[in-house]
Amino acid sequence: MYIVPEREIGALMTRTSAFDAVEKVFAAMASGEAYNFPVIREAIGHEDALYGFKGGFDRAGLSLGLKAGGYWPNNLAKHGEINHQSTVFLFDPDTGKVAAMVGGNLLTALRTAAASSVSIAHLARKDAKVMGMVGAGHQATFQLRAALEQRDFTKVIGWNYHPEMLPNIEKVANEAGLPFEAVPLDGMREADVIVSITSAFAPSLMAAHVSPGTHLACMGTDTKGKQEVDAALLAVATVFTDEIAQSVSIGEAQHAIAQNLMTEADIHQIGAVINGTHPGRKSADEITLFDGTGVGLQDLAVAAAVVDLAIEKGIAIKVDV
Ligand code: NAD
Repeated sequence: MYIVPEREIGALMTRTSAFDAVEKVFAAMASGEAYNFPVIREAIGHEDALYGFKGGFDRAGLSLGLKAGGYWPNNLAKHGEINHQSTVFLFDPDTGKVAAMVGGNLLTALRTAAASSVSIAHLARKDAKVMGMVGAGHQATFQLRAALEQRDFTKVIGWNYHPEMLPNIEKVANEAGLPFEAVPLDGMREADVIVSITSAFAPSLMAAHVSPGTHLACMGTDTKGKQEVDAALLAVATVFTDEIAQSVSIGEAQHAIAQNLMTEADIHQIGAVINGTHPGRKSADEITLFDGTGVGLQDLAVAAAVVDLAIEKGIAIKVDV
């Protein structure tokens, strides 16, 4: 098997390869060639940790495996390690033998950024100019960097519950040569594309804060109870997702469905748009919303890509098991 350590991922993985890997696997999910296994997530009763597995099989890309890991809230304070920890294990689908072990921390950030980026590529108006951010934490910087590559944006606007964190995303905007403006939530009406990436359990962005024609990528809600945007927004938007089963149970759609504002039948797979079996955006006035819940197949796809790159560059460590 090959090992690709966490420390090597930054120099190996590019946003372009993450985008390509995630776009392909979303397409394979929609055509039925790839599927995610049920997610395991357990509070293990030690260090307040949440630990689990996200796995799947992609028959088109021949990726089989899982991401194991979770959240250790005391890591930074006690051990100087980041609180989110994960490792991806890939298996040879022909033999079942373990094929690779790959550091999953940076890959998780990159595959999540790639997901909203894929949604922007396929659903935002081509003439989108103003990029809006709701959220300014760790993941927000990755989402913004990847999003800015999808359209000719001229400006970034941002709102965050903790305004002192806004310089995190201002820096990314400025590095891309774009001006940044902090706005109140109703200032988001100026945005053509909005990415939300917060850990909120109550909506911040309301339907009245979003203009016709906007594309939203809601990326923070990945657990039962979390919510970033007004359920009424999903009722007026055309809703897309990575995985419908997750969108209705742990994504933004859980709230709109609970309030009878929409049904599961109103949600479309982003992969169908990629495959051309769903037309995607149909008018310049339509609000499109991507409910990005995060699936194991995304992790396997980017891990498989990084293993190929590591082997090509002679960086992958080969061990017998
Ligand atoms: P972080 O802790 O670095 O940042 C948290 C963000 O949420 C900050 O912008 C903070 O100001 C904001 N926030 C906190 N409390 C809030 C509240 N009550 N109302 C509004 N905003 C609030 O976390 P991160 O690593 O940037 O992750 C953000 C979210 O993204 C988390 O919920 C995480 O689980 C989720 N996530 C989703 C995926 C996916 O695939 N969909 C992948 C990775 C992370």
